[in-house]
Amino acid sequence: MIVVAAAALRTIVSAAEAHYPDESCGLLIGRRESDGPADGRIVVSEVREGANVAPEPRRERFEIDPRLRLQTMRALADRPETIVGHYHSHPDRPARPSRTDIERAYEPGLIWVITAVAAGRAIETAAFRIERGLVFRLELLVADAPA
Ligand SMILES: [Zn+2]
Repeated sequence: MIVVAAAALRTIVSAAEAHYPDESCGLLIGRRESDGPADGRIVVSEVREGANVAPEPRRERFEIDPRLRLQTMRALADRPETIVGHYHSHPDRPARPSRTDIERAYEPGLIWVITAVAAGRAIETAAFRIERGLVFRLELLVADAPA
């Protein structure tokens, strides 16, 4: 299960709409709760919006600026939060990992959040884990207060 702060989810959704018809992307920052069951909760407290640096066309691909990841890791060095995953949008495609996404999922621990955008409006946001070519959908909850 993944719990996303409401403000973070709003950023994800508005970025997905703003970048339409290109894909938007960014990093998910939060904590993994280890005292729960084996696959304990992951709490996403904030997001870092990134430029999509994939070569054109960016309608069906994204690449998060590696500098953003480096900057974010540095900024989090003294904090309990880490990069727990990333988000991107699917313009006029469903909110589930594409074949390309599955092929590029080389970090099994990361959470994938995908927002489907239809004609410029975000219609669904869903979370996944991708491990060894298999896709697992995660329950996504929204937290109004800090979780
Ligand atoms: Zn995708």
